[in-house]
Amino acid sequence: MHYSEIMVRYGELSTKGKNRKDFIKQLGKNVRAVLHPFPNLEVKAQRDRLHVSLNDEDDEAVINALKGVFGIENFYPSIQVDKNMDAIKQTALQMVREQYREGATFKINTRRQDKHFDYNTNQINNILGDYVLTNVDGISVDVKHPDIAIRVEVRMNGAFLSSEKIQGAGGLPVGTGGRATMMLSGGIDSPVATYQAMKRGVKIDMIHFYSPPYTSEQALNKAKQLTSVLAKYSGNIQFIQVPFTEVQETIKEKVPEGYLMTIQRRMMLRIAAAITKNRHCTGVFTGEALGQVASQTLESMMAINDVTTMPVLRPLVSMDKTEIIKIAKNIGTYDLSILPFEDCCTIFTPPAPKTHPNLEKSRKFEGYIDVDGLMQRAMDGIKITDIKPGDEFMNQNEDVFAELL
Ligand code: ATP
Ligand code: MG
Repeated sequence: MHYSEIMVRYGELSTKGKNRKDFIKQLGKNVRAVLHPFPNLEVKAQRDRLHVSLNDEDDEAVINALKGVFGIENFYPSIQVDKNMDAIKQTALQMVREQYREGATFKINTRRQDKHFDYNTNQINNILGDYVLTNVDGISVDVKHPDIAIRVEVRMNGAFLSSEKIQGAGGLPVGTGGRATMMLSGGIDSPVATYQAMKRGVKIDMIHFYSPPYTSEQALNKAKQLTSVLAKYSGNIQFIQVPFTEVQETIKEKVPEGYLMTIQRRMMLRIAAAITKNRHCTGVFTGEALGQVASQTLESMMAINDVTTMPVLRPLVSMDKTEIIKIAKNIGTYDLSILPFEDCCTIFTPPAPKTHPNLEKSRKFEGYIDVDGLMQRAMDGIKITDIKPGDEFMNQNEDVFAELL
């Protein structure tokens, strides 16, 4: 069955009162952006719902693209027919037949926008219901919990029928929640945290620290590849890579071993907060979850968070690893995340990092290094890449990749 349009229902945004217009406008923009590869279709974002006229574009591909767009509650692929009862009857019957399994129940649910149409909603429900009952053996009506639900909408420009409701991604349209940075490692957690931030409408810029020659080109490409996967949910993402070698080497040389990790993290966050401010973003997201590793105790978070007043947001803070992994698999980042290229944080990790670092000592030991100079040089070495959904960065590692997957 080839669909002629998709009727999209808004999620939470319908409750947002005066911001509603902005939300609808942003969602329209985001939907147009993901549907960019389909030049013939038309997107109309209206007050109550959004309509995508397919105009012969590949309906399945469009449906898949829409599933990733935040701000969509659900959507109904629909078939448009002329506004005459015969055409409507035929299409309704065809839809029921396609889904019919022995003993199934059905329901017709009609809405009428065109008040001049010859029949009212009750009459339409009855006519179509009778027609299906006479033509499909063994079927019966169940208005409460039907196996097959046919929606009929009589609008000014035609009658639209649908039988399938597809769950959307929920959340809020990306761009309505402001702009923030994300500290992206190559691990499992930070890509999931990125997804959660985007889901609340936040436009994300990625910050990734790398330490050549201790970290490989593959580790950097892996972070970029993860960004390319996440860009499917938000449109293009700016990927900011920050050289961290000098900072780490200096810390390793000057700071007592128990505080290596804490001071490294403080420097990371300082630099991330400075980049965030320069870019007029208003928060830093991380993939930290309480209790996962040494740096993720409350004391540790306090000792690290001390370097900035910028909001540090941790969408995964109270989630279990199993819950995080489940999301990572769903959003398509898990297989990349488990590729074993070393992150800059793991290479200088002491055998016994302090799980309960002391704030005063952290400040004192940080005084042993030239914080401002190191920060400045790291920021001077920044490179920015604009990453589009589907961009490929792992090609040169094809062999490694094939072996590992
Ligand atoms: P992840 O799975 O996200 O790597 P993790 O459980 O391995 O998290 P850590 O490695 O301690 O935990 O990192 C905690 C957080 O610090 C990460 O979620 C990420 O936000 C940030 N982070 C770690 N390494 C980097 C890096 N190289 N560049 C940018 N941010 C990083
Ligand atoms: Mg990690």
